[in-house]
Amino acid sequence: MACIHTYGCQQNVADSEKIKGYLHLAGFDFTDNAEDADLILFNTCAIREHAEDRVFGNVGALKNIKRRHPSVTIALCGCMMEQKVVADRIYKSYPFVNLVFGTHAISRFPELFYNQLVNGRRIFDTCDDNAIYEDVPTLRDKQFKGWLPVMYGCDNFCSYCIVPYVRGRERSRSSEAVIAEARAMIEAGYKEITLLGQNVNSYGKGLDEDITFSELLRRIDAIEGDYILRFMTSHPKDCTHELIDTIAESKHISKHLHLPFQSGSSKILKAMNRRYTREKYLSIIDYAKSKIPDVSLTSDIIVGFPGETYEDFCETLSLIKEVEFISLFTFIYSRRPGTPAAELPDVVTEEEKGKWFTELLKTQEEIAAGRCKSMVGSTERVLVEEINEKNGLLSCRTSGNIIVEVQADDSLIGTFQNVRITEARNWILRGEVI
Ligand code: SF4
Repeated sequence: MACIHTYGCQQNVADSEKIKGYLHLAGFDFTDNAEDADLILFNTCAIREHAEDRVFGNVGALKNIKRRHPSVTIALCGCMMEQKVVADRIYKSYPFVNLVFGTHAISRFPELFYNQLVNGRRIFDTCDDNAIYEDVPTLRDKQFKGWLPVMYGCDNFCSYCIVPYVRGRERSRSSEAVIAEARAMIEAGYKEITLLGQNVNSYGKGLDEDITFSELLRRIDAIEGDYILRFMTSHPKDCTHELIDTIAESKHISKHLHLPFQSGSSKILKAMNRRYTREKYLSIIDYAKSKIPDVSLTSDIIVGFPGETYEDFCETLSLIKEVEFISLFTFIYSRRPGTPAAELPDVVTEEEKGKWFTELLKTQEEIAAGRCKSMVGSTERVLVEEINEKNGLLSCRTSGNIIVEVQADDSLIGTFQNVRITEARNWILRGEVI
């Protein structure tokens, strides 16, 4: 039995699905209970410092399990392990950890695990290897929706972000490999495929073939079948009219654009090294709205970046009012050692940032509630995803990525249904299957 715990983003979830694929082929079953496991693996995330602290705390707690079950293999992988200082700390202070490998070593996992079991020695493999390995088995968590990585790494070096340092430079999979995997997923009955990359708009850079992300989308969209195609994450500096036209003209691509803007102030965007301005961002949004009238927009925002004043923050507020996002992923800036922004002076207190954050949430709640209210009475095609254990309703998702809850039989999970929207509850809708 294997107990796999995944921290962080969808890329980590996709990596864990590959590790599970290898283990499944080797005959492993999976458990959520670490006490029952022969292998306990944490796939870690380095994005935020407090996330790292949590991982160290959870790894420390495994010491007792190892004492009770000395034969269990304890393994750590993911972005955190790509930082030498972290791997060194694990080596010195957590002697019960048997296996450590970085994001570049996933394709070597079977060999590393086997060697650790046979030789009993601790193995640490965190060397950089920017190659892309195909034909890695994948055991997806869901049978009808799945992640499909199209590229790895990032070249953007936003000043607050550790990703380029731990996941390496951008490298794309060949279009042939991506399209073949998409076709196999559609033939296997997948209803939702999400193309994944730190910056999908850069897809194709460095490949021998001359291909853009828009062209990749068009080729997948041409595959016959009943499915919806999503992608994340897009960078505004690389979001082209061609991409928006492709979404508008496609048959299967969701009418949803997740375009992180991070700050409404051009001054702060410059300090973040985002390489676009407020005006440029708004011009992309205007184009998207003109080409895709029912487009659903979401974004990421960081509040309290070093040097940000209340005036800068007000520019963020005015931008979200202007765009009317359907939802936002909001974060208070947290210092990430190893990034340029960590060295910048920060004069605003945490208390002050907390107040700005509350103001932001309140403003966005009102916007989302208004957007959802305007959908009452409309009919939406949704994918039925799961039961909400709290209220027994089925949770579904529109093409625009909005949750709709319906009272219906759970045999509908994994199917598309037409739903009439009857009620708006802030950013969640209620409806009935037609
Ligand atoms: S685009 Fe910026 S925020 Fe996104 S992964 Fe790359 S460096 Fe990090």
